[in-house]
Amino acid sequence: MQGVVFDIKHYAVHDGPGIRQTIFFKGCPMRCQWCHNPESQSAEIEKYRQQNRLGVKVFMRDKKIGWIATTEELLKEIEKDVVFFEESGGGVTFSGGEPLEQFDFVYDLAYKCKERGIHTAIDTCGYAGTKQIDQLTKVIDLFLYDLKLIDNEEHYKYTGVENDLIISNLRFLDMLEQEVIIRFPLIPEITTRPENVKGMVELMSSLKNIKKIDILPYHNIAKEKYSRFGKPFSLDVGRNLLPVDVTHIRQQFLKAGLEVKTGT
Ligand code: SF4
Repeated sequence: MQGVVFDIKHYAVHDGPGIRQTIFFKGCPMRCQWCHNPESQSAEIEKYRQQNRLGVKVFMRDKKIGWIATTEELLKEIEKDVVFFEESGGGVTFSGGEPLEQFDFVYDLAYKCKERGIHTAIDTCGYAGTKQIDQLTKVIDLFLYDLKLIDNEEHYKYTGVENDLIISNLRFLDMLEQEVIIRFPLIPEITTRPENVKGMVELMSSLKNIKKIDILPYHNIAKEKYSRFGKPFSLDVGRNLLPVDVTHIRQQFLKAGLEVKTGT
């Protein structure tokens, strides 16, 4: 089986427990205005022109984003890091883009990892058929589940899709008692609005089993990436969050008895 990936990160430490290898799959059904990986959104292999300097000389090089990889090729890459997984309690993480856009490929790879006893995690936006999510629970040990906005209209405005499927899939995983960590990006004046944080706390409090959340402060670094890839960047966040803002949000989750980690 084959699919399109655009990066492989070895020795990753923020994508699940232990030392991990993170594989980034191309294609995403959402268009979050703050997306840090604009090169991940299209499912196609893309080309762009990169400007390089050598002394005073400037020259252009054609570069590609993404390549076609087979399950066997990725397994060989994964197996190179097995010793680190075993030492650290790590494993492989499927990320993107949205890995579920290439469901059959990701499922095949995850199945083969499980056959080899490798821990599997998936970083997903949850915008996929519930049947697919159900199938995935057979081969995925940990869901890193992105949740951004509770109000449906706001969700549509900033991501291009509605959130009802995302929330119902989350409730489904909760019912199945799956290992899930919510990932909440803190986008100033958008996801950090008091009513959204309150809605997040209420939603998580209504779940029976899912009690862990990683809050991920936004960094204003994506803009440069957009211009490098020749893509428009429409979000004007204005400022990065202050530590005091992050602490205030963190406390609201803690008060509700939730387990909170703050990302970098
Ligand atoms: S779901 Fe993730 S990869 Fe897709 S557009 Fe949003 S931030 Fe980017």
